[in-house]
Amino acid sequence: MGKVTGFKEFDRQDEAYKPVEDRVKHYKEFTVPLSEEEITKQGSRCMDCGIPFCHSGCPLGNLIPDFNHMVHQGEWQKASWILHSTNNFPEFTGRLCPAPCEQACVLGIIEDPISIENIEKNIVERAFKEGWIKPQPPKTRTGKTVAVVGSGPAGLAAAQQLNRAGHTVTVFERDDAIGGLLRYGIPNFKMEKEIIDRRVAILEAEGISFEVNVNVGVNYEVEKLKDFDAVVLCGGATERRSLPTPGIDADGVVQAMDFLTQQTKVVFGQEIKDQVMATDKNVIVIGGGDTGSDCIGTSNRHGAKSVVNFEIMPKPPGHRSPATPWPYWPLQLKTSSSHKEGVERNWLINTKEFVTDKNGKLTALKTVNVEWEMVPGERPKLIEIEGTEKTWPCDLALLALGFTGPESTLADKLGIERDARSNYKAEYGKYQTNIPNIFAAGDMRRGQSLIVWAISEGREAARQVDIYLMGKSDLPTKNEAGDLVGI
Ligand SMILES: Cc1cc2nc3c(=O)[nH]c(=O)nc-3n(C[C@H](O)[C@H](O)[C@H](O)COP(=O)(O)OP(=O)(O)OC[C@H]3O[C@@H](n4cnc5c(N)ncnc54)[C@H](O)[C@@H]3O)c2cc1C
Ligand code: SF4
Repeated sequence: MGKVTGFKEFDRQDEAYKPVEDRVKHYKEFTVPLSEEEITKQGSRCMDCGIPFCHSGCPLGNLIPDFNHMVHQGEWQKASWILHSTNNFPEFTGRLCPAPCEQACVLGIIEDPISIENIEKNIVERAFKEGWIKPQPPKTRTGKTVAVVGSGPAGLAAAQQLNRAGHTVTVFERDDAIGGLLRYGIPNFKMEKEIIDRRVAILEAEGISFEVNVNVGVNYEVEKLKDFDAVVLCGGATERRSLPTPGIDADGVVQAMDFLTQQTKVVFGQEIKDQVMATDKNVIVIGGGDTGSDCIGTSNRHGAKSVVNFEIMPKPPGHRSPATPWPYWPLQLKTSSSHKEGVERNWLINTKEFVTDKNGKLTALKTVNVEWEMVPGERPKLIEIEGTEKTWPCDLALLALGFTGPESTLADKLGIERDARSNYKAEYGKYQTNIPNIFAAGDMRRGQSLIVWAISEGREAARQVDIYLMGKSDLPTKNEAGDLVGI
């Protein structure tokens, strides 16, 4: 374990953020790393519990007490080896994971949990700095070929695992750069895109081929996929949700993903004609999730006049509620670094109309406050509260309402069945669609989720593809308890 009395001696320390007035002037990451001495102390807080609930809190089954112990011992290279044995890309999760593991940490019952996510980031960054992360091409090739469609975390994890098994892997991506939502959804200030490039360079050196600007089913015939022995569909769940609200087509009502993607492209020197800007505007972000938070951070960097956030659900409690006891993921108020940069947050509010001037330009939003009526056995019912109608001046409304599911093109053209939620149908743990050599993983299979789940699904799907192609697999897997088999 870390240090027997570590959790009694040391408090949890998190990375600080650079001051708001500095960080809103740029699009770079703004965390202030802890010293090596401090991170070592943080690792020593781990109690190495008899049953480490953090293992099952992490969808990857990361071996958390083991790498915490190595950090405490100053054995950083061993910590990196342990971490990479279950997680292909800890530099993504170490920055962006909501860390369900920390909510399942036993120390968290009585104290602040171990800062697992930050320890993870420090391990992988140290490993890159020391040059420990090197390409590991397979010693032999099987002669089998696999196409991976989509280069988000699911596609990249599947590709790396399949390549390690000796298969020849090609990743197709319709965007002009690799990374999926990590590239053009998540803003640069949350994760600098060089972090993706650094990892993709390793994957290329291991022998994986990447083809960008290839939209399978659009500018690349799906029939060509028949040239491959197996296919893994990792196209994400990017069908955007809208609102059935009058005025939705107004000039000034913009989908969050368009707003975020444009800004990241501009950061990397691309010219965007008529880029949507929040500068000097009254901005209203509709939707209280991660995407909404990213729009708030970006609007403040543009220099918005005001930023307001609407959420139709009630304000979650400030602390873990009895409905989600430890070690479950708690329904609890989240305040992100972007929220701290300036926003007025409103809950239980519904947009009734996007008001425009005579030229169709957005000028205001009309809203009404709501409440949810809960009747056991029935779906919650939205009730509008009379007399709470309000008009908000607004020049830019950003729709951050999430996604309804995956796009249909690949399913339609390949004949893949979909489930009741419109996701590509493939049983959890098997990942095989109704077409035997076609597999599905990540958001495309489970719906909009998290990076850590995408990596987990990519890894597990790769193992199933390997079994399909070779009759067996030496690739690692996690069993239902989250323990790992085969590493
Ligand atoms: C704004 C935003 C912020 C988020 N923030 C976080 C966060 O902080 N933490 C977190 O854990 N999760 C976050 N998420 C969720 C997370 O990004 C996703 O769950 C994750 O990226 C899913 O990975 P994936 O590989 O399944 O799909 P994606 O990342 O969506 O990648 C799918 C890729 O497939 C490509 N593609 C689709 N169809 C085709 C085709 N026919 N041919 C070729 N390519 C195709 C797409 O262009 C895309 O690049 C966020 C999501 C958004 C939108
Ligand atoms: S990947 Fe996420 S859940 Fe897993 S150990 Fe890291 S921070 Fe925790």
